[in-house]
Amino acid sequence: MQRAAIGVDLGGTNLRFGLVREDEKIISRRRTGTMAAEGVEIVLERLTSGIQTLAMKAESTGLEVAGIGIGVPGIISVRDGIVRLSPNLPGWQDVPLRSRLSESFQYPVYVENDANAYALGEYWFGAGKGAKSMVCITLGTGVGGGIILDGHVWRGADGMAGEVGHITVNPDGPLCPCGNRGCLERYSSATAVMEMAAQAASGSGKTALKTLLKSGLLTPEAIANAAKKGDREAVRIYSEAGKYLGIAVADLIDLLNMECIVIGGGMSGAWELIIGPLKEEVQARAFKIPAGRCRILRGRLKDDAGILGAAGLALKTNP
Ligand SMILES: [Zn+2]
Repeated sequence: MQRAAIGVDLGGTNLRFGLVREDEKIISRRRTGTMAAEGVEIVLERLTSGIQTLAMKAESTGLEVAGIGIGVPGIISVRDGIVRLSPNLPGWQDVPLRSRLSESFQYPVYVENDANAYALGEYWFGAGKGAKSMVCITLGTGVGGGIILDGHVWRGADGMAGEVGHITVNPDGPLCPCGNRGCLERYSSATAVMEMAAQAASGSGKTALKTLLKSGLLTPEAIANAAKKGDREAVRIYSEAGKYLGIAVADLIDLLNMECIVIGGGMSGAWELIIGPLKEEVQARAFKIPAGRCRILRGRLKDDAGILGAAGLALKTNP
């Protein structure tokens, strides 16, 4: 009987499920709102019902379910499957997610931090396939990170390792909600790009961003399109995002000497706008040998990385 696993990406807004076969194909998927504001029990109900649907699908197609993997934003106690704290999910404090799901399902349940699940997805099935050490950086609303060393996620003493988005890249930079100044997230996230664009649009210079802002069409994609058409302000904004990302990447290379860095998340769609300035910083700052060896790659799995990584936890650790 062919094996499959159910991978879940539990986000603050969307709850996404995939039935992933051992040959890495997502053969069925579901997507629903998380309804995080309704509280823990409602989210658990929605989670259980989505998993149930895919478990039935597996059964009807003759697949053996190896387990359930769930990526959750926040601090996760991976060993006992407990969500310690999640800033994106109100009320989620010390929720024993694994044991709660084990009341409804007989399969093994794996709970992992969402950025780590994303990194594992790219590592096992995407751009990082074949590497032994990798850092995955996700550029979205915020900037997330996952570190994989010799095939294992490096979680740190408190399960909080990999917070690449809060590395200081400018000591005098803008204040970050985390309390620090000049975090990477304040330059290279979609939020930061939008803020820089709004600022540029209200300045005196000539830029297409003004029209975009006025007509309510200012999005990271629209800013990237303006940059691709040569709008100087838009180009400058993405260069800044790439430059500061490059500073962080250079530090990571010198610190970890890993085989590759995979950059994913929604903002990686502006790859050609950020990769040049990024590589310039790496060349100027990092040691030549580790910088020369480190492949800087665009993520391949997009939104599926989280689902695939979560499913991989069941497929790879339970052969
Ligand atoms: Zn920060």
